[in-house]
Amino acid sequence: MSAAPSVPDDARPTVAEPAPTRLIVTEPTHARTAPAGPASAGPGPTRTALAGPALTDLTLARAEVDRSSHLRTDQAWLDAAWAAPSTKVLVVERGRVLCDMGTELARLVFVSADRAPDGVRFLLGVDAENLAYFGVAGPLSDPSRPTVRPVPLREAGPLLSDRDAGLMTHAVALGNWHETFTHCPRCGSPTDPTLSGHARRCPVDGSEHFPRVDPAMIVLVTEGRDRCLLARNALWPERRVSILAGFVEAGESAEQAVAREVREETSIAVGSVTYLGSQPWPMPQSLMLGFRAEATGTTEIIVDADEIAEAHWYSRDDLHRAVESGGLLLPPPVSIAHRIIESWYGGPLPGSW
Ligand SMILES: [Zn+2]
Repeated sequence: MSAAPSVPDDARPTVAEPAPTRLIVTEPTHARTAPAGPASAGPGPTRTALAGPALTDLTLARAEVDRSSHLRTDQAWLDAAWAAPSTKVLVVERGRVLCDMGTELARLVFVSADRAPDGVRFLLGVDAENLAYFGVAGPLSDPSRPTVRPVPLREAGPLLSDRDAGLMTHAVALGNWHETFTHCPRCGSPTDPTLSGHARRCPVDGSEHFPRVDPAMIVLVTEGRDRCLLARNALWPERRVSILAGFVEAGESAEQAVAREVREETSIAVGSVTYLGSQPWPMPQSLMLGFRAEATGTTEIIVDADEIAEAHWYSRDDLHRAVESGGLLLPPPVSIAHRIIESWYGGPLPGSW
């Protein structure tokens, strides 16, 4: 498929949002194979809308706390906010924070500023009650209660409130960046955090560096009125499928990346590329841009066997039957892929991984 290497590079830990091919999930192989049989009568919905609705309330695109970017350079305000007893600090270490998982709705565990560890500090924002939230990239403290433990964003995201999901996504993204991009790309000197942790500056040449975000497109390809294309990455276990995805290349638009990746992975030509919405996926630094696209020519799939093990067209009835029986495993609800598939299907689907 794409020219992107199929092996995750050192700076990219394993992630679960399927398919940008530099972000491969490797998990044990299951025994069963995915059915890809012909359409048959089944219990699926009857919606036939071709245009995908805009995706709202994506799990990791929720937020309540204002980022208050105008305060990032106000050192007097930052010092006062840090000293305020009401200020809440979220400590993040290697993409994980302490969460209280003891209730149905998980909750972030904050510490007061005087109990925060040393580490890069960043202003996460100020809420409607004028309460300030900071993040610190540093070691997590020992859990204070049995229900509290370190949790990654992929696990905590779906269980958190809007406020907490937004704070954790923001903190994890910055934490990952500060843990990795520590030196100046121009001269190699160690850089210092600025803008309350939202940039770094080189003390030698004065260059400023901002958090790196890698745009990746993810697309549901449809054909006619009732079939969509699902594929299994070569490194995924049997039965696991998702929609196609890949990184946007340098000097390329997201829509161009959609057409290129779909063609490279399946030989299918697409048009009517429609943007649906986006979700940050800071595992470690992606922004997922969701699309729908319609096959414009042949529907004969020829997979790039290096990256894609198999790809098939599924009607809504095919899909419902396959996920209900466990014959297909879809991406988890935290992923934009899951939401795009359900938005096409017309409602919730029973299975996920
Ligand atoms: Zn430098």
